[in-house]
Amino acid sequence: MMSLDSAIEWTDATWNPVRGCTKISPGCKHCYAETFAERFRGVKGHPYEQGFDLRLVPEKLTEPLRWRFPKMIFVNSMSDLFHEGVPDDYIVAVAKVMVAAKWHTYQVLTKRSQRLRSLLNSTLGFAAAQPHIWWGVSVEDRRYGVPRIEDLQNAEAAVRFLSVEPLLEDPGKLSLDRINWVIVGGESGPGARPMRKEWVMSVRHQCRQANVPFFFKQWGGVRKVKSGRKLDGRTYDEFPRRVRHPVLTLNECTSLAESIEAAFRRVDLVDCLA
Ligand code: SF4
Repeated sequence: MMSLDSAIEWTDATWNPVRGCTKISPGCKHCYAETFAERFRGVKGHPYEQGFDLRLVPEKLTEPLRWRFPKMIFVNSMSDLFHEGVPDDYIVAVAKVMVAAKWHTYQVLTKRSQRLRSLLNSTLGFAAAQPHIWWGVSVEDRRYGVPRIEDLQNAEAAVRFLSVEPLLEDPGKLSLDRINWVIVGGESGPGARPMRKEWVMSVRHQCRQANVPFFFKQWGGVRKVKSGRKLDGRTYDEFPRRVRHPVLTLNECTSLAESIEAAFRRVDLVDCLA
């Protein structure tokens, strides 16, 4: 799924050069991407004909180079870029596109924080230090979510963020050292697990103390529109500072897209897709 008008409150557009994923922790229980994708399993010609099975989508790889105006782009809203089934070379190609199309701001969010750390500290070093690429981990609980923060802090990233969503319990004292942004949200949809106000207040308080921008996405619940996104009578829509870069010419974009695609084709795509 690609959209230039994402319904996600903290982004403008989504870009999915990978589709599908597998569950890894309790935050995945009601994965919206899985629910969406599985509705189309078996529908001939639909982008989600294969349901939520993991696959690369090389024809989407250079899409941001074709978007001619600056956007905040959520990378892989329908997958996890650092899933073990995505080859290193493909992740490098995705990062090359983000570095080339630098008039956008990218949000890369993962639950595979160990792979994020090890790649940012090695092959992805060329992208890690770019302030227009924000790297984040999901923090849904203490057991699985909180330990991801340390991986992120130990990754050589210029901008780091936490997506504390769906918040399933009081996360306790968080280490916010070198964290540049925190999003908090409750789960929504059928069977949504409730989020208590004191958990949200605790995270907001910690962000205030550490001087970290705080974004409150939603209370969630079965009817998320009704529960809304106000906390103590106001909304919280804070972001890290965005850097501005000029949009390249059409010719420059075309030749960059061609060179990235050619470099990726030289990697054995057949092996990658196997
Ligand atoms: S990691 Fe994300 S995309 Fe993958 S199953 Fe979990 S919630 Fe869904």
